[in-house]
Amino acid sequence: MIPTVLPTYNRAPLSFVRGEGSWLIAADGSRYLDLGAGIAVNALGHADPRLVAALGEQAAKLWHVSNLYEIPEQQRLADLLTAHTFADTVFVTNSGTEAAELAIKMARKHWHDKGEPRAEILTFEGAFHGRSTGAIAASGAEKMVKGFGPLMPGFRVLPWGDIKALEAAIGPQTCAVMLEPIQGEGGIRPLPDADLRRIRQLCDESGALLILDEVQCGMGRTGRLFAHEWAGISPDIMMVAKGIGGGFPLGAVLATERAASGMVAGTHGSTYGGNPLACAVGARVVEIIADPAFLAEVGRKAALLRQKLEALAASHPGLIDSVRGQGLILGLKLKAAPADLVRAGYDQHLLTVPAADNTLRLLPPLTITDAEIAEAVARLDRAATALEGAR
Ligand SMILES: *Cc1c(COP(=O)(O)O)cnc(C)c1O
Repeated sequence: MIPTVLPTYNRAPLSFVRGEGSWLIAADGSRYLDLGAGIAVNALGHADPRLVAALGEQAAKLWHVSNLYEIPEQQRLADLLTAHTFADTVFVTNSGTEAAELAIKMARKHWHDKGEPRAEILTFEGAFHGRSTGAIAASGAEKMVKGFGPLMPGFRVLPWGDIKALEAAIGPQTCAVMLEPIQGEGGIRPLPDADLRRIRQLCDESGALLILDEVQCGMGRTGRLFAHEWAGISPDIMMVAKGIGGGFPLGAVLATERAASGMVAGTHGSTYGGNPLACAVGARVVEIIADPAFLAEVGRKAALLRQKLEALAASHPGLIDSVRGQGLILGLKLKAAPADLVRAGYDQHLLTVPAADNTLRLLPPLTITDAEIAEAVARLDRAATALEGAR
């Protein structure tokens, strides 16, 4: 018989009843150190008192009003995001997938309204932009698209980071180039800053819009508010989600006035997107993370974690190939699939996340403490040792 919950997930036999900062607590009281943070969602850890207050205060006032009316909390979130980024305008969604859908629509509409429609969006192998029919077509990955055809046309998938292939593919027919500055699901694969600058240049030359998916790598995770800032460039359209809600479902599309010019009244909408509860929490998250002192702390802690992980890799050369990523979006590139090490981590009460390309993902809360970093790497070391002993 089919389970009452549609069985689309490979779930670990773990469940939690409470969270405190970097810790998740099971019904029997046992505590797990959380280096997954809901896959980069719980950016401020679990039950951050500032977010609990923001949600509670809003919940006592007003949960939902339609976008038929003005929503001051949504306005405040948009004002904060535009104040801290390249963007002139923001559409608020409930998820990263919805942000991807709008990013695609916005780019197509831009060219349509210019009177020179351009259909082709260039994307990269290993990309993850969500699970909608559009987002799986953008990724092109066999495991996501198989059986779900016909796929939405208009995407061409290039080898990851292959600038030569992009130079050959981009042209006056290119609507947009869409990519994650650091691939998350694809295995924590950062694009070098120089390559991101070159992609920006190629977009400028061909007119193509640059869409960056910062759903996973954005919101302070690299030590800047958004990862592309390290390269000194900015996109035309950017997708944000995951960390921006701190655990409350929230996403956004940020865009320049030029890129968004086609999105006039009636061209897009959402029932829940921009809801007062989500926006009250999101605005508090942005205020906290955009603080330069907070971002500097992320950078400092990231260096500490990185250094400990490099030492860990050196002491388990049969298991760990290398450390990659930036800031607190880090991966251990393993010599085999990460599932066994993830499971060995559970035995040490440590939560990590598998990714493609034999990579174990580490996405701790940005608020993780130095002591928790040391504890996490000690547990990872024990997990690795146990796994090596079992082989
Ligand atoms: C998770 C993710 C998405 C999809 O976000 P959802 O909120 O799950 O719809 C899109 N892009 C990237 C890079 C992601 O990591």
